[in-house]
Amino acid sequence: MGIIERMRLDGKTAFVTGGARGIGKSIATAIAEAGSNVAIIDLDIEEAKKTADEIAKLGVKTIAIKADVTKEEDVDNMIKVILDTFGKLDVAFCNAGICLNIPAEEMTYDQWKKVIDINLNGVFLSSQAAAKVMLKQGKGSIINTASMSGHIVNVPQPQCSYNASKAGVIMLTKSMAVEFAKKGVRVNSISPGYIGTELTLESPTLKPLIEQWNAMSPVGRMGRPDELQAIAVYLAGDTSDFTTGSDFIIDGAFSCF
Ligand code: NAD
Repeated sequence: MGIIERMRLDGKTAFVTGGARGIGKSIATAIAEAGSNVAIIDLDIEEAKKTADEIAKLGVKTIAIKADVTKEEDVDNMIKVILDTFGKLDVAFCNAGICLNIPAEEMTYDQWKKVIDINLNGVFLSSQAAAKVMLKQGKGSIINTASMSGHIVNVPQPQCSYNASKAGVIMLTKSMAVEFAKKGVRVNSISPGYIGTELTLESPTLKPLIEQWNAMSPVGRMGRPDELQAIAVYLAGDTSDFTTGSDFIIDGAFSCF
């Protein structure tokens, strides 16, 4: 069988948190195109349902589940619904995240905790819940969305909580990868640079910075969500069986200097 066929995900079951829109929706669409059934997990259940219906047209089974990734009971329920519906869990994309642009000296403790709670604690809860199922199965692939901001402090915006949360995701990923390495469960992260989604294009604090980012970027532009699809399909599937504990920076060389 050729490499393209071996990369297919037919018969697999995946979930994508923050899957209703943006990067999560793009990843969910890609893995469905490759043959995987997919659960769209989001706080915004109306948008999640629309996305699930759209993706179902690709010929796979989809389901939308409302969950706040910071709430243990929601995460437990999402796993229960996935197992009741599909009977197994092969792939987990822990992707939900937010960004607050507030100078460190002005940030309240509640604002700090909100970002850490969704971006880091939410990834811990979702990946741990997925791992519990996958360890029993003896197989599974967990992919966490980090950011180039987990590697560099990207001027000009003040994002200390975001940067710290994403650096945490990268190290959580590596730690789990080592713990599960001999047990068939792989854990990797994707670190995108600036990608055009609601998080960046619609945010009142980030939108005005787009021209500046483009000027700073070696490739001179932001990325698109579809430019993360191939790495997502690769990490979800069995051709990446030797790939674990890795972080994939996809940022048009933004973090190179
Ligand atoms: P987005 O705002 O377009 O979509 C995020 C989705 O997550 C939304 O549908 C939202 O409802 C959902 N969500 C938020 N909090 C949640 C919670 N507590 N529980 C469940 N769902 C929740 O964002 P995006 O740009 O697609 O970003 C997705 C991920 O990629 C985030 O982790 C983000 O930090 C990361 N990222 C984005 C960029 C970028 O430039 N857009 C760059 C690097 C990393």
